[in-house]
Amino acid sequence: MVPLVLVMAAMGVLWWTGVGRQGDGRYAMFLFPPAGGLAMSGLYRWRTAGLRRLVKRTGGCVCVKCGYCVAELPQSGVCPECGRAYQHRALIEAWAACGFLP
Ligand SMILES: [Zn+2]
Repeated sequence: MVPLVLVMAAMGVLWWTGVGRQGDGRYAMFLFPPAGGLAMSGLYRWRTAGLRRLVKRTGGCVCVKCGYCVAELPQSGVCPECGRAYQHRALIEAWAACGFLP
């Protein structure tokens, strides 16, 4: 996230000062991929904020298929919401691998 912001800042400075632009603004197109990346990253974080909170609060005991909280259920079993087999340990590892758990 931070490197992306730095790249965007550098691009912005180049664009603002007109370096490499020669009047026709043809390098301005290099501004769009970083801007798109930043927008997508923000959208992703916004759309997953609720799930992120739930995963953190339950310590990772959330069904990876449907998002049902299985923290109160036995260590392993079948998700009552979608029928997917789960194990608390595997769920915690999966959410950690996604970066949803610290
Ligand atoms: Zn489920």
